[in-house]
Amino acid sequence: MKLTVIGCSGSAPGPTSPASSYLVEHDGFRLLLDLGSGAFGALQRHVDPARIDAVVLSHLHPDHFIDLCPYVVYRLYAKGEPMPSIPLLGPAGTHDRLALAYDPHSRNGLRRLFSFAAVTPGERELGPFRLRFDRVNHPVETHAVRIEAGGRTLTYSGDTAESAALVRLAAGSDVLLCEASWDSDRSNPPGLHLTGPEAGEHAAKAGVGRLLVTHVPPWQDRDRIGAGAAAAFAASELVEPEATYEI
Ligand SMILES: [Zn+2]
Ligand SMILES: [Zn+2]
Repeated sequence: MKLTVIGCSGSAPGPTSPASSYLVEHDGFRLLLDLGSGAFGALQRHVDPARIDAVVLSHLHPDHFIDLCPYVVYRLYAKGEPMPSIPLLGPAGTHDRLALAYDPHSRNGLRRLFSFAAVTPGERELGPFRLRFDRVNHPVETHAVRIEAGGRTLTYSGDTAESAALVRLAAGSDVLLCEASWDSDRSNPPGLHLTGPEAGEHAAKAGVGRLLVTHVPPWQDRDRIGAGAAAAFAASELVEPEATYEI
């Protein structure tokens, strides 16, 4: 599998990165994980958006899904006629939420562009990928996803606070792409996000090969969060926008 970081800024786009979006490719299939604020522009540096085969949304916070709005416009007009639908997997209610964000009067049109499917905990096949989802610890319905293909495994945390489900889902993964949003030296609101050390602890408990730390908000000290994760799990690095990884 090849992982490309389209955007990795946590909670909002930052000066050098869009919000969350990741491209996962295997056997010519292009799976987009999240499409947060600002990511649709950066995506075009890596792939013609017409060639995305499926989209998986971890949850419906704007920093993970709102650039589906420009993607709707693209799929309607960029090739002269609306493009055939592709699978769009997300929390229950994804269609209605996207319709509200894009244009409440375009409700039927969206179903011609995307085949909406509600994610539930459990396994499903998507192209060459075997996906396994589980609910994680965030104020809205949020799923982490374990992606297996070609004998390799990538697990993406979505947004989560401490989560035993994430540890179970990520167990033995080659790579855990995990959020770390909070400064461990401050008192943080419960049930939202992880600190750097907590991300490292989740990686250690899950016994993953490598931890890629992402979703650091623009107002946080990236180096501190990265160092905190590395102190808890040595095979750890902060991702950068545009970075690619062979998994
Ligand atoms: Zn987020
Ligand atoms: Zn969120």
